[in-house]
Amino acid sequence: MTSFLDFNKDPANDIDNKPQQYHDFGGKGVRVQVYWAADIWRDVSLWNNSWVLLKGADEILRKYTLALDMLPLQTEPAALAPTKDKATREFDRSAGKQLARQRKAKGRAAQKQTEAAAKSIEEQGPASRGLLDFSGSVHVPREGEAPIDGLIALRRSLGTIRDETRLVVVFAHIDGGPNGYTVLRQEWLPWVIADPTPIQDSPKSLLIHEMGHACRLSHQQSDAVEATARNIMYPLDIKGLAHLWGWQVDTIYDSYWCNGRKPTNWWDRISNVRLPPDHPFLWDEPP
Ligand SMILES: [Zn+2]
Repeated sequence: MTSFLDFNKDPANDIDNKPQQYHDFGGKGVRVQVYWAADIWRDVSLWNNSWVLLKGADEILRKYTLALDMLPLQTEPAALAPTKDKATREFDRSAGKQLARQRKAKGRAAQKQTEAAAKSIEEQGPASRGLLDFSGSVHVPREGEAPIDGLIALRRSLGTIRDETRLVVVFAHIDGGPNGYTVLRQEWLPWVIADPTPIQDSPKSLLIHEMGHACRLSHQQSDAVEATARNIMYPLDIKGLAHLWGWQVDTIYDSYWCNGRKPTNWWDRISNVRLPPDHPFLWDEPP
């Protein structure tokens, strides 16, 4: 495992002012396999926001000399652009020129366009593009673990996972509390659910925060107020979180999804209880 250059939690420290606390990982990819529940990929605004979150994760990783290595490749715009173009043409034909001129407007026209896009994507074989035949939401309580039944239903819609060294990221609606959830259960390797419903100040850190959990990073700056919180692993999803400490970046690099070995006991919640509250990690790994 990568040895930390400097283990500290000083909120003022970042790669810009303390580069000596950071390794240069040369743009190494953090591998994810992305899926979208049907309610997400059928809705233009949710679909777009899922891309805001993916790009947000990539921006943060690049800031720290890593990058997001994402499959399915080039879903947006290269692969889906023709689909959306085709859907738009079909829409133009069916709705006529007058309605077509309004297609960028919100409301009924946009709704029809969304439906046409969904139909067209369906024809092209949605599964191969990570588009799931799953609708509805997964229940995650504000505190504690998500019930297994909902997780199983969502996870089953993914089918076989071809490469377990890619972190599974699913965009789906979550009801109950948080907009993001990292599943840490023995049934599966860690995986992430993110709800791309736009929230008031639209932070872009939701996905990278959950990816941090999947790499075993625990919450930080828990005592900070929202005005001073900067760290990506701050417990609340608020605007302005853009910092990772060097040892956190090292931990992401050392994960199974980037350059590390398979985790050993990520589901071991009992050991989490034993950990001190400011422990850097969600679970312990042997050295
Ligand atoms: Zn969290």
